[in-house]
Amino acid sequence: MSHDDVRMRGFRQRSDAWEARRRLLESVRPLEAETVSLWQAVGRVLAADVRADRDVPYFDRAAMDGYALRGEETFGASVYNPLTFLLVGESLPGKPFPRALQSGEAVRIMTGAPLPEGANAVVRAELATEANGVVSILEPVPPGKCVSRRGEDIRAGSVVLRAGRRLRPQDVAVLAALGYDSVPVIRIPQVAVVVTGDELLPVGSRPDNYRIVDSNSVMLDALIRRDGGRPIHGDIVPDQREIVRERLLQACSGADVVLVSGGSSVGQEDHAPRVVAELGELAVHGVAMRPSSPTGFGWVQGRPVVLLPGNPVSCLAAYDFFAGPLIRRLAGRSTAWPYRRLHLPLAEKIASELGRLDYVRVRINQGRVEPIATSGASILTTTTQADGFVLVPADCEGYPAGASVCVYLYDEEHPLLSE
Ligand code: AMP
Ligand code: MG
Repeated sequence: MSHDDVRMRGFRQRSDAWEARRRLLESVRPLEAETVSLWQAVGRVLAADVRADRDVPYFDRAAMDGYALRGEETFGASVYNPLTFLLVGESLPGKPFPRALQSGEAVRIMTGAPLPEGANAVVRAELATEANGVVSILEPVPPGKCVSRRGEDIRAGSVVLRAGRRLRPQDVAVLAALGYDSVPVIRIPQVAVVVTGDELLPVGSRPDNYRIVDSNSVMLDALIRRDGGRPIHGDIVPDQREIVRERLLQACSGADVVLVSGGSSVGQEDHAPRVVAELGELAVHGVAMRPSSPTGFGWVQGRPVVLLPGNPVSCLAAYDFFAGPLIRRLAGRSTAWPYRRLHLPLAEKIASELGRLDYVRVRINQGRVEPIATSGASILTTTTQADGFVLVPADCEGYPAGASVCVYLYDEEHPLLSE
């Protein structure tokens, strides 16, 4: 697409936010697989089905501490009529009883130890007494009692975990039990962050009269990691077209996605959109969304490039709406919001313009939702004071006081989330 210079003229038309998002997300697929050790695999997305190549457990084993014997030989046992067995040895985990058990014999056995050949049940220690090499059984146990059968947990040949699954701690435990030491998972998306702005000082600087500290790098870093990406940072880029171009090209060559912060609007120093249009394709520039209307995206050298507004509140909203799901998709994860939700009534109305998606920061006060300054996109602390946000869709003029709205919570834990 050719891109006219819209600088200082404003957006002629803005794309529908959801439609733009769909276009962006459709342009990517999960990345290829890499093999990682089980120690690093939790939270990663499995790239292929995992099948068991053996039974788990691999042998019949005791499920309780007690005595292994033939269950049918205990029939008729009771406290008043104990049945006796000759204690011929023991079976410990990893140290089986060395021979087959004969009729009338019992073997002391511990949980997890192999059941001796010839035995088919375990009598719990509490239901037996042991003296002078003889075990007395006080209760009958049917064959199979207190025995974990070979293959009871996992059958050889079965699929234990499916491709696409985000691995949990217990999943790597199962993989370890099967004898794996590594698994194929989707590669971590490398996300280059290109921060632009002549006025910006690096994190850790003291702001002075005219210069401000780059807030977006640290925020984006955390968001990218949350979404399963690996951030790659560089030096702050001055608002000079040639340098923006050079740094964008450099970023594209070493990353799966490029996020540009700042310089995405229609001001005279906003070079990123034209540079993307020149180097590749600028698909969207200007989105019907508040905050974040100066968001854009396109592709350079086949890599998606998302242009995020420099304003930190807009940057957060645009990241969450466009970049976050893009990175999650590349990482093989769900594009759904990574926030928990609560449905609560509004304390006061939220007004919104038709045709525009609003990302409204809200506070929850006594179970009711209070919007925080629906304007003032540059006030970063609106996002720290907020418990979360409400989305007002483009085809909606807002909600009256008392209406139930869906709040996306910034925190994973919130007192109103029930246990
Ligand atoms: P821009 O998107 O470059 O037009 O910037 C919009 C506003 O956000 C301006 O007030 C910038 O100074 C501010 N801004 C841009 N980038 C950052 C950043 N990385 N951290 C904090 N504020 C920024
Ligand atoms: Mg700027």
